[in-house]
Amino acid sequence: MNRTPPTSARSKTPTPSQTPTPSQTPTPSQEPTPSQTPTLLTLLERRHEYGTVYTYRFARPAGVAWRAGQFAHLVAPGRGVSRETVRHMSIASAPGDDDLCFSMTESSGSRYKRDFSALTPGQPASVFGIAGAFTIDPETQPAVLFVAGGVGMTPVRSLVRCHGDRIRWQLVHVARDGHLYEQELRRQRAPQYRVGRAGAVHAIASAITSFRAEGLEPDVYVSGGHGFVEAMASRATTLGIPDTRIRVEDFTDNHHGRARHS
Ligand SMILES: Cc1cc2nc3c(=O)[nH]c(=O)nc-3n(C[C@H](O)[C@H](O)[C@H](O)COP(=O)(O)OP(=O)(O)OC[C@H]3O[C@@H](n4cnc5c(N)ncnc54)[C@H](O)[C@@H]3O)c2cc1C
Repeated sequence: MNRTPPTSARSKTPTPSQTPTPSQTPTPSQEPTPSQTPTLLTLLERRHEYGTVYTYRFARPAGVAWRAGQFAHLVAPGRGVSRETVRHMSIASAPGDDDLCFSMTESSGSRYKRDFSALTPGQPASVFGIAGAFTIDPETQPAVLFVAGGVGMTPVRSLVRCHGDRIRWQLVHVARDGHLYEQELRRQRAPQYRVGRAGAVHAIASAITSFRAEGLEPDVYVSGGHGFVEAMASRATTLGIPDTRIRVEDFTDNHHGRARHS
């Protein structure tokens, strides 16, 4: 059975709890990361999206590379590397972009988020350990349904910007108080459903039905919080999508970009 990516590659991904203290040598990752040494980023813009969600747009630093859909270890501004000062953040920019964008919800009011909310243009944060398998091969995955919950839209933006012209895609974005990147993505011709949780099941069924009406069996990419990805992946299974075609990015899980039951 074609289960991707291999478990060994995923489980070696560093997590905040495994990240190096300044005096430690980072654990090597099997993912294609350019560096485990933090690279300085310079903030260009902090943009309010809606509610407590903000986008941080950094100048793209030399030597930092990523695949669409991957995440980074983002270090809080002015801090060293420790459990408290690092979070996984999906990269919202595409590899061809000249900026490096992250969008985050600041509702927790954690010290990490407070450090970011105080960041002003021209000031630095840093990034290391880019990894993850929430990626697409357009040659073998010509049709994709993205199902995102809240800020789970971040890797989807990167994937759409990178591959959107070469694949058939649809989007179901489930959110309570705002739909991240709505204005930008509405310019794309792909069908897009922006719904609250109550509308999710119907929207997913409609999207899959319309793919099938064209003779396409979509891969289903689900990203967001744990309860959301579990519920939406189960829904896709119920609708006949095989596990090998379901990929999840669980924002509250350390096994990134896993195929459903690998
Ligand atoms: C692959 C991936 C991509 C993600 N992408 C995004 C994104 O694009 N946008 C976004 O907003 N969020 C994203 N997240 C979630 C993000 O990493 C944070 O967990 C989330 O933003 C909450 O952080 P917080 O500081 O607000 O909350 P907190 O509750 O302070 O921290 C959240 C988690 O960080 C860890 N942590 C914090 N402090 C410690 C400590 N002292 N010791 C050990 N562990 C600690 C714990 O696992 C904790 O549950 C992603 C998560 C993953 C796994």
